[in-house]
Parts: sequence; structure tokens; C-alpha cells
Amino acid sequence: MKDELVLTKVNGKANGSAKINGNGHGRIEIKDFELFGDNHIGTSIETPMRENAFEISDDEKILIIEDKFREIMETMGLDLTDDSLRGTPHRVAKMFIKEVFYGLNPANKPKISVFENKFKYNEMLVEKNINMNSTCEHHFLPIVGKAHVAYISNGEVIGLSKINRIVDYYARRPQVQERLTVQISNELKTILKTEDVAIVIDAKHMCVSSRGIQDESSSTVTAEYSGKFKDKAVRDEFLRYLEL
Ligand SMILES: [Zn+2]
Repeated sequence: MKDELVLTKVNGKANGSAKINGNGHGRIEIKDFELFGDNHIGTSIETPMRENAFEISDDEKILIIEDKFREIMETMGLDLTDDSLRGTPHRVAKMFIKEVFYGLNPANKPKISVFENKFKYNEMLVEKNINMNSTCEHHFLPIVGKAHVAYISNGEVIGLSKINRIVDYYARRPQVQERLTVQISNELKTILKTEDVAIVIDAKHMCVSSRGIQDESSSTVTAEYSGKFKDKAVRDEFLRYLEL
């Protein structure tokens, strides 16, 4: 009985609430998970997705989101007959599916091919200051920052712009910075067939700078060092490149 009460509060009148809560998340007390989000704690390395996430097409999703977003705006009291606001629900829906959250759909994963380059064998390749735009999954506000990536080639290399594409793909989801860091690292390890991958992400969270504590100067740094980068000397070499 208590569970149902919580579910009602969480989902309001939302359709399909039973499906949404099929994973048991509805059992968490409201107070607990509000705190959970405010502390920006993630639950898993994989982005939590529903099993039927791709049963409907992107175009269908845009129509549904458009509808729901119009309802949100109207609930806030906005007059959607105003010419300036009329197109916003559609714009937001299209932006969610095609741009800001395109990385949720595995069909959009960048196709990366590696090529052999024996001259680069055992050499550290660093790509730093990769622009990164993501979204905090707890507040749906932007996370903006830079990613710095390095790997030690086992003979295979990828085009540098491909690293940017991988960072962008995983960033374009509702995210937790720690999870984003690990997801990019895991992808690079798989593509490059090596454990020797390092990544540092330095990012500002709008949910920290423009609301809540309103700290505009702080940024969050997360790092994932694997393989040879667990060795202090190798890690220090990478970090020195970042200072250049
Ligand atoms: Zn947040």
C-alpha cells in the first residue's frame, strides 16, 4: 500500500507508470531518491534503460515528447497560443531525440575503424581539450567541460577526430560524470584492443552553478586510469602533457 502511494506521487498522472516502474525503482522512498539525485550518485556503469526503449521510432518519440512538453509548459501557466512559444514543444522534443540525447540510441553510435600503424607501437597518444556537452540525469541541466584522453597503442590507432565522436556519443545522454568517464574508457579499450587507456574529464555542472548551492567557480574532475596508466610514471607523463 505504501509503495503505491509513493508511485502515485512520483508519476502523477503519467501514462504507463506501471511499465516505468517495472524495475522496482518505485520502491525507493521519495526522500531517499531526492537526496540521491542531489548528491549526484549514479547506480550503474550502463545507462539505465528500459527493455522496450526502442520499440517505438525516434519520430514517434518526438511526437510523444512534444505532447508532454506542451503539457508541462501549460501546467506552468504559459500561453502556448503565443507565437513565440507555439513552436517550443516541438523544438524541445526534436532537440532531445536528435541532438542532446541522440547518444541513447545505439543506432547512432559512431562507426569507428582502426588502422594499423607499427610506428606508433607502444607510444602514448594524447588528445586533450575535447569539447564535451552532456546533461545531468538528476536535474536535466547541462554539464559542460573538457575531456582529455590518452592511450598506448598496441599497433592499432584510430583517427583523432574519432575520439571526439566517441566522447560526444556517450556525453549525449542523461549522464552522471563518473559513468560517462567509464563508458568512454570502456569503449576505447574495446575499439583499440588494449587496456592502456586514460581519461580525465573536467566539467562544470549547471545544476551546481545556477541552482542549489550556486557555486559558479567549482568544477568536477573525474578520471579513469587503466592498464599501464595505473603505473605512476606513465600516469604522470600523461598529466604533464595536459599542462602543456
Ligand atoms: Zn545535477
